[in-house]
Amino acid sequence: MRIALFGDIHANLEALQTVLADASEQECTDYVCMGDVVGYNANPSECLEIVRAMNIPIVKGNHDEDASGTHSLETMNPIAAEALEWTRRNLTEDQREWLRKLRMVRQVQDFTVVHSTLDQPQSWNYVTNKFDAMSNFNYQFTNLCFHGHTHVPRVFVRGARVKEVPAESIVIEESMKYFINVGSVGQPRDGDWRACYAIYDIPTKTVSFRRLDYDIATTQQKILDANLPAALATRLAEGR
Ligand code: ZN
Repeated sequence: MRIALFGDIHANLEALQTVLADASEQECTDYVCMGDVVGYNANPSECLEIVRAMNIPIVKGNHDEDASGTHSLETMNPIAAEALEWTRRNLTEDQREWLRKLRMVRQVQDFTVVHSTLDQPQSWNYVTNKFDAMSNFNYQFTNLCFHGHTHVPRVFVRGARVKEVPAESIVIEESMKYFINVGSVGQPRDGDWRACYAIYDIPTKTVSFRRLDYDIATTQQKILDANLPAALATRLAEGR
């Protein structure tokens, strides 16, 4: 069994199609989504329908929550808020209902999945260092947990102490706990614009990361054509 773990798609259709084609070529047999299907980019409806039709385990992201609610977005970053208002208008009530019903945490095979952290999933905290990861580990009861949210692929390991190791191919050891950020399909923020996802190969207990070129020019043009903030097109190319 080979599982493709992907999330933070953020309505980027070109990146999503590229990732799914690659996962199929890589002979992935199963798929799990970390949430944030919508928000920022111009194809929320199309991305949502692709993921919904896959009928796979998925958890709710903060943009899924904001795009499917009716609450005020005033306290948010203005560019994200403008994109979310646009997203609300460009989803059907049926699609918003599907987003509202997504669960915060899921157990799949021998691992756990959450968008942000297990200690307070509804607070949408960002894990950017080992100290943030420590709070999560106190609530992680499986060997392995995958998440998203920061759009940066990262691997935190708890053995005798908590440390961060490079997000490269790693073999999961039974005696340790792993909290792994699978990066972002549709808006990476680690300085590399290419779409990112992870593969968990269960027979070899190996987690690896994939980076893929996609048709970013088309995604950027769609943002401009939709009258979404132009800064969203610029940041895509910068990978931030
Ligand atoms: Zn996100």
